[in-house]
Amino acid sequence: MSVFEVVNPADESVVTTVEELEAEEVDAAVAKAQAAQRTWAALAPADRAGALRDFAAHVDAHVEELAALEVANAGHPIGQARWEAGNVRDVLTYYSAAPERLLGKQIPVAGGLDITFEEPMGVVGIITPWNFPMPILGWGLGPALAAGNAVLVKPAEWTPLTAMRIAELGAEAGLPAGLFQVLPGKGSVVGEALVDHPDVRKIVFTGSTETGTRVMARAAAHVKRVTLELGGKSANIVFADSDLEQAAASAPYGIFDNAGQDCCARSRILVQRSVYDRFMELFEPAVSGVAVGDPNDEGTEMGPLVSEAHREKVASYVPDDAPVAFRGTAPDGPGWWFPPTVLTPSRDDAVVREEVFGPVVAVLPFDDEADAITLANDSAYGLSGSIWTRDLSRAVRVSRAVEAGNLSVNSHSSVRYSTPFGGFKQSGIGRELGPDAPLQFTETKNVFLAIDSTESPS
Ligand code: NDP
Repeated sequence: MSVFEVVNPADESVVTTVEELEAEEVDAAVAKAQAAQRTWAALAPADRAGALRDFAAHVDAHVEELAALEVANAGHPIGQARWEAGNVRDVLTYYSAAPERLLGKQIPVAGGLDITFEEPMGVVGIITPWNFPMPILGWGLGPALAAGNAVLVKPAEWTPLTAMRIAELGAEAGLPAGLFQVLPGKGSVVGEALVDHPDVRKIVFTGSTETGTRVMARAAAHVKRVTLELGGKSANIVFADSDLEQAAASAPYGIFDNAGQDCCARSRILVQRSVYDRFMELFEPAVSGVAVGDPNDEGTEMGPLVSEAHREKVASYVPDDAPVAFRGTAPDGPGWWFPPTVLTPSRDDAVVREEVFGPVVAVLPFDDEADAITLANDSAYGLSGSIWTRDLSRAVRVSRAVEAGNLSVNSHSSVRYSTPFGGFKQSGIGRELGPDAPLQFTETKNVFLAIDSTESPS
């Protein structure tokens, strides 16, 4: 059995070591999950609801512990990490209502009664990334369990600790043994074993579009269901008629939150040419005001990048001759720090087209509404975005025209557990969260009961 080191990105110290599973061990985990799933699905809906509420309450009692673990493992600022742990609690609470509300239909037909059932799929695999280890785990876990499934989670190798602890909390709260297991290991080993396993009926994958494409191709061999939440290159569109002070003050949150390691990061700021200079004047102090430093400090707004390899990738987008307009500050090290960085590249530069996944934003001018829409949609991705305007008609027009799954007007809000989340184009397939998410983890079964045998159903 081999182990891998979990390293604190803020100071490069080794937090702990974790044993990584081999592919063969996934078979045993699936068998155990199948047995637990049968017990779980046979429970009365009210009892499954109660078990999810107990699980949520147990997470709530451990929010501080989980937050501290994420600070050490992922370098997230403590306030943000607390929100992330609380999000797991909130998502479990929200979906605890679902077992009793997973309604079928009664459909009018001739000759009998036609009803539908939403049946659990069985065992679901969730492959999570390193950028938001807790929330992204919860977004799949809550609705999958609520719909009567077992869940196997493959966390990212860099950030497995909170997922492992949340699985322990689930067991302590009374979930059937094996219903929710965390399988640490390599994506190329444990991840692929989950995707290839015939008894894992669905994969929820969040990560890069490149890996997501491979997961989808492998899943096709078993006609396996997939939900994919992939990359983004979202546009923050600032019109001349907007509250420019508010747009500029808020723009750092749109891109530098989680050090830009956010699939919804507004990594392209599109500014109407007539107010471009004024926007940049206002944006510069907002960027230099971002508090970058010790993640344990309550005032910290931005921590380090997750790993040395990732910092190198981010730095490759800011070579010495990059068109840097201005930058914020960051500690020298140890730790994998990178300052908030504002670039003014041309429309076809790699930094405008590719997902940097770091605190690097490209600012581009546009001429009019049509140009803004063309520019926003000139991307392989379509996940998120913001529109700043005081004109309500324009807000609605542009919202409808931008090819993205999650937009906000005069705000950088991206994700709420009660509303659907997911991407257009290469940003993914399917939607997480919102009231319908449990239906992403069921198969619809239609049953016709003949009542009048003289009538044949049509
Ligand atoms: P990946 O997409 O490769 O990793 C995401 C998850 O998939 C991890 O748990 C990983 O495991 C697992 N995985 C890797 N290979 C396979 C495979 N063949 N089959 C099944 N699962 C697999 O992201 P990276 O960590 O490599 O990051 C690369 C880039 O992806 C980032 O720089 C960023 O641009 C983007 N990214 C985007 C995210 C988003 O939410 N949009 C999230 C994360 C990354 P393991 O950790 O063991 O490799």
